[in-house]
Amino acid sequence: MAIREGVAWSTDLGGGTRVALVQAGTFRSDAGTLFGPVPRVMWQRLVVDEINAQGALLQALNCLLIETPAGRVLVETGIGERSDERTRERRDIQGSPILPALRTAGFDRGTVDVVALSHLHFDHAGGLLAADGSVAFPRARIAAQKAEWEFALGDNPRLQASYEQEELRLVEQAGWAGAVDGEAELLPGVTALRTGGHSGGHQAIVVRGRDRGLAFFGDLCMRPWSANPRWVTAFDDFPLTSVEVKATLFRRAVEEGWLVVLSHESETPVGRMVADRDRYRFEPM
Ligand SMILES: [Zn+2]
Repeated sequence: MAIREGVAWSTDLGGGTRVALVQAGTFRSDAGTLFGPVPRVMWQRLVVDEINAQGALLQALNCLLIETPAGRVLVETGIGERSDERTRERRDIQGSPILPALRTAGFDRGTVDVVALSHLHFDHAGGLLAADGSVAFPRARIAAQKAEWEFALGDNPRLQASYEQEELRLVEQAGWAGAVDGEAELLPGVTALRTGGHSGGHQAIVVRGRDRGLAFFGDLCMRPWSANPRWVTAFDDFPLTSVEVKATLFRRAVEEGWLVVLSHESETPVGRMVADRDRYRFEPM
């Protein structure tokens, strides 16, 4: 089935592999937390148009639907539909969650073969369950790193803050907590690479078509300014790993000419990496 209207962007990578960007609504995060160690004087000018009175930035929930001759992969599921009213207000959750967003784009959730998650934080794994608590993608297997499940369900209070453990346990109890360990081919042409950094078991997804490749670096690359390997968020649980792994991945993105889709950018989510002195720059398409 062809990718059609209702998607934010789509591209043909050649050889029957297409990628569509589906945005599953938005939420807001504190700007200072997003910029982590970066002093305010350096980031303030980048966000003048979007920062609100509470100092929070708009974060899109970017998901990818990858179609290959071997099947369909959904990357990320957004926040989903199960947050209570208080949480919705606190995080300013707006827009269409993943299931209605996919429906609008003309995709049947029952045709997804693999749901790949960069990591299991609430804003990526929340859509694994439908509003009634049933599994949202009945035919799919889940691909998150084995280590990520261990971190997500562990008892370190710092790590727990970013995971909705009760929700993840429901997923687990449904017998649906699929895992990959290290580098793994999810379908021919679609590879998961364990990165760590942002979360203990974070992974990137690389798609290779006949003509071109595309990379989704998850929350290692949320917004255009994330292209600087040293600009890591305060949400990163293992920031030194983030800096190292970002530099390595972004070098590969330049060398292999990958398209890059950002995880939380609403305005310019697609582009490519350009080497810039000792760092990288994200150039929107
Ligand atoms: Zn995120």
